Amino acid sequence: MIGGGQLGRMLAWAGLPLGLDFVFLDPSADSPASAFGPVIVAPFEDREAVFKLAGAVDVVTYEFENLAAHLLREVAAARLVLPPPLALEVSQDRLLEKQLFQKLGVPTTRFVPVSGRDDLEAAVATTGLPAVLKTRRFGYDGRGQAVAGDAALLDAAFQRLMGAPGGLILENHVSFERELSLIACRDRAAEIRFYPLAENVHQQGILRSSRVPADVDAEVSRAAMGYARSLLTHLDYVGVLAIEFFLKNGKLIANEMAPRVHNTGHWSIEAAETSQFENHLRAITGLPLGETRLRGEALLVNAVGRLPEIHPLLELPGVHFHDYRKAPRPARKVGHVTALAASAAELEKVMPKLLVQMPFETVS
Ligand code: AMP
Repeated sequence: MIGGGQLGRMLAWAGLPLGLDFVFLDPSADSPASAFGPVIVAPFEDREAVFKLAGAVDVVTYEFENLAAHLLREVAAARLVLPPPLALEVSQDRLLEKQLFQKLGVPTTRFVPVSGRDDLEAAVATTGLPAVLKTRRFGYDGRGQAVAGDAALLDAAFQRLMGAPGGLILENHVSFERELSLIACRDRAAEIRFYPLAENVHQQGILRSSRVPADVDAEVSRAAMGYARSLLTHLDYVGVLAIEFFLKNGKLIANEMAPRVHNTGHWSIEAAETSQFENHLRAITGLPLGETRLRGEALLVNAVGRLPEIHPLLELPGVHFHDYRKAPRPARKVGHVTALAASAAELEKVMPKLLVQMPFETVS
């Protein structure tokens, strides 16, 4: 596994009952996944280290996106790499990603690539205002983007973000009603399974909570699954793929996708028959996928900046705690909890008591 963060940690934990062994590549010797297997300590772009990893395993996977895609392609000539490097390349670049959505008929925001100051005016004519200026690459948790309501603010955003490697993209700012995500999985035999749609709340671009099942019309779920199916099939995808959507006027608008297990699917550890982590591993190792049905209603809440106190949290019924063993730092996800309940009414009784205990610290 390239990357040894919390996703790597939860993947490896899910792999233990399957009898899988893991080797990680991570710049840090004591990364969250290091409790679960040896770590090759090296930068992600270290060619020799990536090949050393590939030589030690049957299949290479990755748990985050800021990798050198060309290196992954090179490795894929010698070792099975899943999800396929093409999926990573597309997801790394917001422009390629939105162009693929368009090509496959997946509705997305209006967007225009911006390579210089002179492009801005024409771009705004297409996107309208307010607009969101984003770096095409290396953005996460709301970093590398700015919302602008008028030409002056847009200019300021441009001054701040210009020079980002890979250039910029301007998008229409969607006044969405809700944010949803779909976790999908495709195995080596092209069998596809979907988890129920989750409804997500972001604060300052960082995921605060995810609730399943999202309370949406069957039509919306069907549409989301159709879009995911097109993407999975087009990319000849193997593993878990996450797609984030806005819901506006009852219609889905795809924002982005991630070629990996996803924060908006962490509830699946306790709340689904088979977790997203286990299904990703089943898929990439050639095993059949597990059932994705829910075991109840669930809410995931992230601990951002620092961990909560465990004792009072675990007094709440149905609450499960996950500590990623990361040093606390503003805006950093250091853990999460999932509350599982037999009904929406029961879950809603726990929710306020849970939310009030979960830190969300983004500035020191
Ligand atoms: P992203 O990095 O694209 O996932 O953006 C992080 C969050 O910023 C999203 O989950 C939304 O809450 C918000 N956001 C991003 N793009 C847009 C957009 N085009 N319109 C409205 N909100 C957006």
